[in-house]
Amino acid sequence: MDDTIAAVSTAPGRSFLAVVRLSGTDAFSIADRLVADGPRPSRLKGFSAPTVRLRLGKGQVVKARMLVMRRPRSYTVDDVVEFFLPGSPPLVEAVLGACIKGGARIAGPGEFTRRAFVNGRIDAVQVEAVLSLIESGSDDQRAAAMERLRGRPTRDAAAVRDQLLGVLAAIEAYLDFEDEETEAFDGPRLIEELAQCREALGKIEAVLSRRRPLADRPGVVILGPPNAGKSSLFGALCPGKEVIVSSIPGTTRDLIESDVDVLGRQARLFDAPGVMDTDDPLESLALSNLAGMMDKIGACIVLVDGSRPPDGRALGELDRYRGERPFVFVLNKSDLGLDRAWTERERPTPSCVISAARRQGLDQLLARLKKILPQPVGADGISIDVGLAHSVRSALKAIDLALNGDWVGGVELVALEIREAFDALGALCGPVTGEDLLEEVFSRFCLGK
Ligand code: GDP
Repeated sequence: MDDTIAAVSTAPGRSFLAVVRLSGTDAFSIADRLVADGPRPSRLKGFSAPTVRLRLGKGQVVKARMLVMRRPRSYTVDDVVEFFLPGSPPLVEAVLGACIKGGARIAGPGEFTRRAFVNGRIDAVQVEAVLSLIESGSDDQRAAAMERLRGRPTRDAAAVRDQLLGVLAAIEAYLDFEDEETEAFDGPRLIEELAQCREALGKIEAVLSRRRPLADRPGVVILGPPNAGKSSLFGALCPGKEVIVSSIPGTTRDLIESDVDVLGRQARLFDAPGVMDTDDPLESLALSNLAGMMDKIGACIVLVDGSRPPDGRALGELDRYRGERPFVFVLNKSDLGLDRAWTERERPTPSCVISAARRQGLDQLLARLKKILPQPVGADGISIDVGLAHSVRSALKAIDLALNGDWVGGVELVALEIREAFDALGALCGPVTGEDLLEEVFSRFCLGK
């Protein structure tokens, strides 16, 4: 942990601005030697940000903004120097190369964050949050990650831990001075405090277990008769995913699924087989698949070919599959002209008119869909089990045992349980986790973070 690490902290490729970050014991001396023209980082106060010229070797220099952070007031708690440069890959490589030549080592993925964690700058919940933030694919996920980064669950747990310590101290003082009868032992008050701890922990536990995996995003299915354009719409909403589109009715036999960004909300989109009465065994099989998966579905896009007149029987079938789920009714193929029978009155609401083939009306469809998507219970995407929920649960269990313990004859045992709860929370609030787990978590970071 004593050596000095360096990496490009911005995304690879050309960009307006790139950041090369240097962190560790020798960060200042390495940076000193790099500066050809300008103040030396080792002589600067923390948070100075002068413009300097950097020596790149072979007489080349480049102008950069240099941000100096002195330990412990930096992300990693080490001395840190950051160079802000134009984001030209060869230039950025050259500056990084000069840092390495100067004695720094290339940082592994997540190594800056790892140092921040080991040095106590951030806690395990925040490590997870940084990772979630990097991986977040939507506004929901980003907001939830930011909330965790600000340390809410950990702060709350630390408060509970402090309160537990107070209770524990009172009991132990009593046990130590039992014979001297110094202070009266106020059991009911301590039990009351412990019950408060229990309640607060219960809430934290709920927050932690609400962090659901990616697979748990609300499911949205495109329901429609064969040939309505379901596959075309699926393809239009999930660009980059190749989907087979066929004009032979009933060719979508398997369920195809993909993540979709519904104007900032993440959902899982399913393309289903065409809904129709059928005697074909393969079609029936596909439809029974559809019926089986409908419990994963939170909302439906009901899609019909708007260039054809309404078909009462098909609409009835669609209703049957949809059940009570919220839906958006969509008339497709607007480019062919809507059939006159689709008067406003004839359409279920909310509805919209699109052309999947021409990618028209999709934003309106997404806006309607967003309104009816079931509210996620703290949907923030990524969940890595760093054992946090587990520590809170063990603490809860210990507190329950303490609350139900013998407060008259067995206070020693009660104290033991409270200590157990206190220790369990220590794992949540401080940096104690298995080395393997750390490797696993930090290896998922990108370079430079
Ligand atoms: P699915 O059976 O519901 O999956 O429907 P497909 O997506 O396979 O589409 C059936 C046929 O309708 C294909 O020939 C598509 O090219 C065509 N189609 C789909 N959307 C549109 C549209 O918006 N306008 C027109 N004119 N044709 C479309």
